[in-house]
Amino acid sequence: MATCSICLSDLQDPVCTPCGHIYCSQCLSFHILAARVGERDTVKCPTCRVPFPIVTPELTTLPKHVQRFITPSVRRVYIDTTHSQALQRQLTRAKSQIRELVKESQDLQASNLSKKRKLEEVDGVVNRLAKSHCQLLEQYSLKKSKLQEAGDVTQEWKERYNDLLEANVAKKRELARANSEAAEWKRKYEALFKLPVKLAKSRSIHHQAKARQ
Ligand SMILES: [Zn+2]
Ligand SMILES: [Zn+2]
Repeated sequence: MATCSICLSDLQDPVCTPCGHIYCSQCLSFHILAARVGERDTVKCPTCRVPFPIVTPELTTLPKHVQRFITPSVRRVYIDTTHSQALQRQLTRAKSQIRELVKESQDLQASNLSKKRKLEEVDGVVNRLAKSHCQLLEQYSLKKSKLQEAGDVTQEWKERYNDLLEANVAKKRELARANSEAAEWKRKYEALFKLPVKLAKSRSIHHQAKARQ
């Protein structure tokens, strides 16, 4: 809807001046009353300052065949608003669509933000897990190498123990041999020690026998 440049509102009963400017009928009437100087027949248009006549011609004094060519300077106008109403409806629709789109975009931005935040949280968790996984892997390989070392040491001790065991067996065998040798020697010694006694005994028996003879 067009607006009146005097009251700056929607046109009410619009009228048009000869210069083509449109005002509310009441606004233009007030302007004419206020701007008319003395008995002058013209008033200046409030927009373009072009004077226009304000006297209504007395038609009855004119011949009938020219009367239809005489028109008042200020005329009532009828503005076709159907087109502008359709445009207004389209504008309203477009505005509501824009509002919906803006809301949709805000929703999308918010959901995008929350998704981004969740993604960052997941990233953080993944990073922490990866870090702890690395630490666990390090600890595991450390333990493994320690275990390996311990196994090596155990193997070494086992070998030493086996060596000692073998040496022990050899020593035992040597000892047994020495013992048996010692027993042999003891027997021989005892035999040697008993020989004179035997001899003496057999000699005395021999002497007794001789004496009896
Ligand atoms: Zn007005
Ligand atoms: Zn004008």
